[in-house]
Amino acid sequence: MPAETIAMDVKGKRVLVVGLGKSGVASALFLESRGARVTVSDAKSEDQLRNEIPALLDRGITVETGKHGERTFRDQDLIVVSPGVPQDVPPLQHAQRLGIPVIGEIELTARFLRGHIVAITGSNGKTTTTTLTGEVIASGGRQTLVGGNIGTPAITFVEHSSAETWVVLEISSFQLESISSFRPHIAAILNVTPDHLDRHGSMENYIAAKRRIFENQTAEDYAVLNADNLITRSMAEGLKPQVLWFSRLSEVERGAFVRGDKIYYRDGRLTEIMPIGEIALKGDHNVENVLAAVVIGMASGIEPAAIRRAVKDFRAVEHRLEYVDTLRGVQYFNDSKATNVDATIKALQSFPANIHLILGGKDKGSDYTELNPLLAGRVKRVYTIGAAASMIEQQIGTTVPVTSAHTLEAAVRKAADLAVEGDIVLLAPACASFDQFSSYEERGRAFKSLVQSLAALQSASPGGGH
Ligand code: ADP
Repeated sequence: MPAETIAMDVKGKRVLVVGLGKSGVASALFLESRGARVTVSDAKSEDQLRNEIPALLDRGITVETGKHGERTFRDQDLIVVSPGVPQDVPPLQHAQRLGIPVIGEIELTARFLRGHIVAITGSNGKTTTTTLTGEVIASGGRQTLVGGNIGTPAITFVEHSSAETWVVLEISSFQLESISSFRPHIAAILNVTPDHLDRHGSMENYIAAKRRIFENQTAEDYAVLNADNLITRSMAEGLKPQVLWFSRLSEVERGAFVRGDKIYYRDGRLTEIMPIGEIALKGDHNVENVLAAVVIGMASGIEPAAIRRAVKDFRAVEHRLEYVDTLRGVQYFNDSKATNVDATIKALQSFPANIHLILGGKDKGSDYTELNPLLAGRVKRVYTIGAAASMIEQQIGTTVPVTSAHTLEAAVRKAADLAVEGDIVLLAPACASFDQFSSYEERGRAFKSLVQSLAALQSASPGGGH
């Protein structure tokens, strides 16, 4: 049943949107279209925001840049805060003390959106699972919209949604900090591992933020949890929604699991979904993502055959263990989105041996020694890049040979030199990209274009040496 929306009338109201990222811009335009008197405020300079500002001014929106003016925050009926802006910045706290409601874009969306909401969060696998789940539900013939923290901001879907629409949203823990009535019909937490501790302060806060995805659900709704992850396994207690599980390692009572070489779903009766061998994605972690999508598909009433079709046709999302090319028998994989140690571990587990691994970038305070047990068996050599390089070398250098490559270009070149037929060159850097690139996407695209240049070079000198 579609969730009831707690409607909100913004006509004539003074609304401030804080932060001009994608979701802030979309929120401001949406609010203006509903008759609100909209102001936007961003601490960035006018120059840094030159791409965003014209569309806002065109619509009569007031724009404040370079600061968060105290008055700007005081004279409002509602404040919509972007996920990038911490809740505890002084002007926001001040506004809250004055009794001005402060909500995020997801909460704003919840007040207007019609249809069935599926919300997916977790430390890793959100984008893959959200995209795949969208395919699964669409494969069942439903009108489906997919976005949120990836791609299209959720608020944009309001204009396109009806009671029949299924809206599949990737949700970050930051977005969950500023909800109050957001109630997904199906909500999943894929896994919880340390990440973003710089922003959330402690693991307890991070877990509490993730768990908020379930807070407005009722017994008509579903909570989907990973039984193989210690933290998510302990999250079911005291939940109001019905709990469905997924597990690669054990046969759960309600939910999806692996038996032999097949995926099954059990909810009272047992349904065979598909052979594991039909999954085109690499790695055990992707089996987990598929299991999560199977649970959500079944809970949404999608036919098992339609689920199977969607999973079978699904290829990796760009930069997520994405196959790039095979050159002289060496396979190249782009996992630029592996921006933390856990994601790199999953990437390494996807290949049994002979890996040339590119690591490094901007450090997030991670413990790289956690990589050592896997490096020992599977990795022939590590190539380090970026600001974190020397720290990584100190922590793993006694386990595997390390080449200091400094740049991605040098790393690809050196790896291509040393790799032999049957080897894998893998970019799964365990770090953020911001020291050398503007984003993990730019880093991943740079990697792919370096591989393509290598291909061009090699075809120009067939059989040529290194
Ligand atoms: P997110 O949107 O949560 O960052 P992605 O699907 O974009 O997740 O994948 C991010 C990284 O995490 C990729 O490098 C991928 O290899 C790895 N990954 C994907 N799914 C999982 C999972 N279920 N558990 C652990 N790591 C995963």
